[in-house]
Amino acid sequence: MNLHSNADQAEIAKFDRLSKIWWDTAGKMRMLHVINPLRARFISDQIDVPNPKILDVGCGGGILSEALTRSGARVTAIDLSQPTLQAARLHAEAHGLEIDYRYLSVEQMASTAAGSFDAVTCMEMLEHVPQPGVVIDACARCLKPGGRAIFSTINRTPKAFLFAIVAGEYLLRLLPRGTHHYRMLIRPWELREWARDSGLEFSLSASLMYNPLTRKFQVARGKEDVNYMACFIKNE
Ligand code: SAH
Repeated sequence: MNLHSNADQAEIAKFDRLSKIWWDTAGKMRMLHVINPLRARFISDQIDVPNPKILDVGCGGGILSEALTRSGARVTAIDLSQPTLQAARLHAEAHGLEIDYRYLSVEQMASTAAGSFDAVTCMEMLEHVPQPGVVIDACARCLKPGGRAIFSTINRTPKAFLFAIVAGEYLLRLLPRGTHHYRMLIRPWELREWARDSGLEFSLSASLMYNPLTRKFQVARGKEDVNYMACFIKNE
């Protein structure tokens, strides 16, 4: 399996260019920092193992990996942007956090570490890859039976286009321009179908709803509106 066989080089290059700004909480990554406590709590709530072994796929600068580590998880985090991983390593080191960062695709991870994780998180990453179903299948293979897979992405609807792309990238400028391409966004039923084909049973979903007036996010369980998360359980 080629390291880059299911990676979009233009997408990776985009993240390479963003590598220096991951930990600028007032910069273009600030939305990830804002939603991070909410999604970290959502993830922890789904896992019933103490000090779980978690694989964070497409970890970026480690915003989620660090939060999971601080909550007691033992985290392995993988990404295909070298400069981004370097930023993640430096930040974790500076904060005394032990996170196993690796330059590896999840497909490769699945071939060497199948069945080894209590949970796999793959957040805001599926909408950047050519074949999301292949990533989901590899995530499933990395899990122990009964393990949790938690994905987050953006719905492919006119409303999501308006909120996440038009408002998010152009009007409110909450995200870097060009972060998302409409055609790569993912409908919840597509995510569920890929997951089911990979032996993952749907458990629950939730939307991260943004209120532009209060400029705050909240988790709305059962919704799959614009930004949504979904948890699946690997068949025993
Ligand atoms: N999950 C992190 C970062 C999301 S940004 C968070 O939510 O905070 C998306 C990340 O996915 C980027 O770091 C990018 O380099 C990575 N990525 C894109 N395609 C990938 C692939 N095929 N394999 C691994 N990582 C990938």
